[in-house]
Amino acid sequence: MRIFDPHIHMTSRTTDDYQRMHAAGVRAVVEPAFWLGQPRTNVGSFLDYFDALLGWEPYRAAQYGIHHYCALALNPKEANDPRCAGVLAELPRYLLKDSVVAVGEVGYDSMTAEEERAFEAQLALARENDLPVLVHTPHRDKVAGTRRTLHVVRDAGIPPERVLIDHLNEMTVGMVADSGCWMGFSIYPDTKMDPDRMVALLKEYGTDRMLVNSAADWGRSDPLKTREVADGMLAAGFGEDDVDRVLWRNPVAFYGQSGRLDLETGAQVGPDHAGNTIKRG
Ligand SMILES: [Zn+2]
Repeated sequence: MRIFDPHIHMTSRTTDDYQRMHAAGVRAVVEPAFWLGQPRTNVGSFLDYFDALLGWEPYRAAQYGIHHYCALALNPKEANDPRCAGVLAELPRYLLKDSVVAVGEVGYDSMTAEEERAFEAQLALARENDLPVLVHTPHRDKVAGTRRTLHVVRDAGIPPERVLIDHLNEMTVGMVADSGCWMGFSIYPDTKMDPDRMVALLKEYGTDRMLVNSAADWGRSDPLKTREVADGMLAAGFGEDDVDRVLWRNPVAFYGQSGRLDLETGAQVGPDHAGNTIKRG
């Protein structure tokens, strides 16, 4: 079984996790830029983080046989801090990098005017750079937040097939299915979706445009939740081809729109911490 986790924050995880993920079948991940818990106070702090997602983290992943790509953005929560606004001016040069396969995660946290401005500006950047977009939906007031998210996406004139709306549940999946956007589900140990509910949704909505992720980060989360969903699908009567579609071919198709996914040959993943370029063997 091959698994592509389309949303995971490996910066917050240990090398043991990489090992366990590889043993479970994970062969590729996308790490979106997000809030690190501790508020950042200046633009340079973001740039060091972006460089880590482009250099150090792919190097670490490659040692465990996992392809690492990233999505870059000013995250919704820190879009509210005026000290971080300058990140938007730095993003264009970062979006040109080879292992950046999307703009993200963008969207709403508390649905403020500042968040909306950053969201719209970054949708425009995605359009200009011909990149797909990973959109976070708020954990509070999710239905209203998702509805407004879809309006903003529509108004931005970005084709729905280039947009992934994430952290969905039973209440929000229907409107996203109708929108033509891709549907993302984060499977957590005790909040949001769990594997059984996910399998039920796959039965109801089918496997088209459906993506499953662990969204594992510094909070209570589990990087093996993708595998649990795969096993749950098989136990519920889905075939291996269905599992491969949801856990591998769908994320490859979505992020492949960037033109930058290279999962066949050994992807270049350097430079390492010493500045040497490392090639995956
Ligand atoms: Zn996330």
